[in-house]
Amino acid sequence: MPHVRILPDRVANQIAAGEVIERPAAVVKELVENSLDAGATRVSIEFGQAGRSLIRVEDNGRGMSRDDALLSLERHATSKISEASDLDHLNSFGFRGEALPSIASVSRLSMWTRAEGEESGTEIVVAAGKLLHVREAGRAVGTSIEVAHLFEPVPARRKFLKSDGTESAHIVSCVRLYALACPAVSFTLIEDGRLVFRSPSCPSLPERVSEIFGGALAETLLSVESAEPGLRLSGLTGRPGSSRTSRHETVTFVNGRPVDSRTLTYALAEAYGESLPKGRYPAAFLFLECDPAAVDVNVHPAKREVRFRSEQAVRAFVLKGVAQALRDAQAAAGPPRPGPGSLAPQVPGGGQLRAPLSVGPPERAPYPQGPVPVKDAAEEAAPATPAGGPRWRFLALAHGCYALFETGAGIVILDRRAAHERIWFERLGAQFRAGSVPSQRLLLSVTLELDPVGSALLVDNAEFFRAHGFEIAEFGRNFFRLEAAPAWIEAGGEGEFVRDLLDALRDGRISARNPDLARDQLARLAASRAIRLPAAAGEAEMSAVLAELFSTRSPLTSPAGRPTFIEIGESELARRLQKS
Ligand code: ADP
Ligand code: MG
Repeated sequence: MPHVRILPDRVANQIAAGEVIERPAAVVKELVENSLDAGATRVSIEFGQAGRSLIRVEDNGRGMSRDDALLSLERHATSKISEASDLDHLNSFGFRGEALPSIASVSRLSMWTRAEGEESGTEIVVAAGKLLHVREAGRAVGTSIEVAHLFEPVPARRKFLKSDGTESAHIVSCVRLYALACPAVSFTLIEDGRLVFRSPSCPSLPERVSEIFGGALAETLLSVESAEPGLRLSGLTGRPGSSRTSRHETVTFVNGRPVDSRTLTYALAEAYGESLPKGRYPAAFLFLECDPAAVDVNVHPAKREVRFRSEQAVRAFVLKGVAQALRDAQAAAGPPRPGPGSLAPQVPGGGQLRAPLSVGPPERAPYPQGPVPVKDAAEEAAPATPAGGPRWRFLALAHGCYALFETGAGIVILDRRAAHERIWFERLGAQFRAGSVPSQRLLLSVTLELDPVGSALLVDNAEFFRAHGFEIAEFGRNFFRLEAAPAWIEAGGEGEFVRDLLDALRDGRISARNPDLARDQLARLAASRAIRLPAAAGEAEMSAVLAELFSTRSPLTSPAGRPTFIEIGESELARRLQKS
């Protein structure tokens, strides 16, 4: 009969670490939160090899006495709450007292700390949860904690880590969040000896955003400010028409704490309505303040999820506040222009198809005649309906994006976008494999201001960009000039595509280290982002599309796996229409 027994602390800590410390960025988060809770006005963070080899966080906070320092490494040791009811008026980031012991159980953790009013400081080293030594050590008031050999005691964890690029990106976005949340604190972030950003303590949010994310982004933002009894919303949000491919720049805080909240992100997307194209996200830095008792931050040990007592009320309030800011911007910009360019974030669409409110490239001719997209001579000479394409009779276009055909056995609805992506994916794939990427010099070079991570990525992947037809020159800190771009990009969309590509490199959707894979990934991104669907699509164009679609390797699906068409057979039609 097995006996029930209490787990040794070391084992309990390693298990807790599985929840709290899932990746290097989680270590950074916990250490930075502790520094902020200790009242630091300066926090510097340094990491090496995506945090695997080293994470060091140093602060000038109030520090710890020798006894407190030893205690802080014990499970459930916290100075921040003493009863569960304290959670209702929490004014610290931490409260569980499990971060330090958890981290120390899965790494080698060294701490140097000195409390205010103490003569000297303390050095403690713990490896895999075992105390190696405690000794006196001199240092200024404050604390530094260094974490090395992360996850070595738990090799299974290491296997779950993503590429270095992805893990670093998580660390960087984590530090950015806290730098935004605490404008009075100056942050320094160093990756592998290189400065990622330094944000002096600075009062205004726009300045802060511009230090951390780059001035170009800051310029596209509108200010949001609204209040109701018990609720206050402030911050910045993107102008309609400027959107991002990833959520990295959609950032929400509740009572100063960076959070993930579906309620907030839905409300935000709702406020933009149709002006936000599908699959894109607004840049937003929103701070919600509410009664701490009306929000539960204790949902998950490590996740940033929060729950509101009244999700509905918060959603309605945020929606109203952001929509108002968007309307104010519209009013300031003059009366709305009629037509698809008009700005109507709040007006329901009524099923009508509206072009996204982008300041994107001008409408171009459909690609069979388009001047910019590449076509090789063979393609040019291809007959409109070569053998191989199915014999479907084109009927009409519905909603601009569906092509209807009559087939021998029923009707087909072709999703033009999905078909278009499949065709371009294969065209570009072939081009990339052949190594012949025609590049086109831009008449007017495009200036790109990137945030520090984007700049570093661009510099690191310079060869990849060059090999794919981009010519980019650096001309100042975080400033670049795009002088030539691959011929297949729509005119006017070059800068946007470079940003999309950097986003994909940043979150690991494209890895330039494996050229074969990267070619494929790039072709997929290009097909879905950089090539506009031709506006006009008559019978000739649609049969050319069909023929080309059916000469690809997988005509039935888009590169992302969506069906390119659906067929409804005659028997199905008869059944649905209840014909006997
Ligand atoms: P929690 O933050 O939930 O209290 P932690 O394990 O993260 O738990 O930290 C335990 C305790 O150690 C904290 O409550 C705090 O008193 C102390 N501590 C940790 N880091 C620091 C620091 N950088 N400066 C001062 N005190 C710290
Ligand atoms: Mg903590």
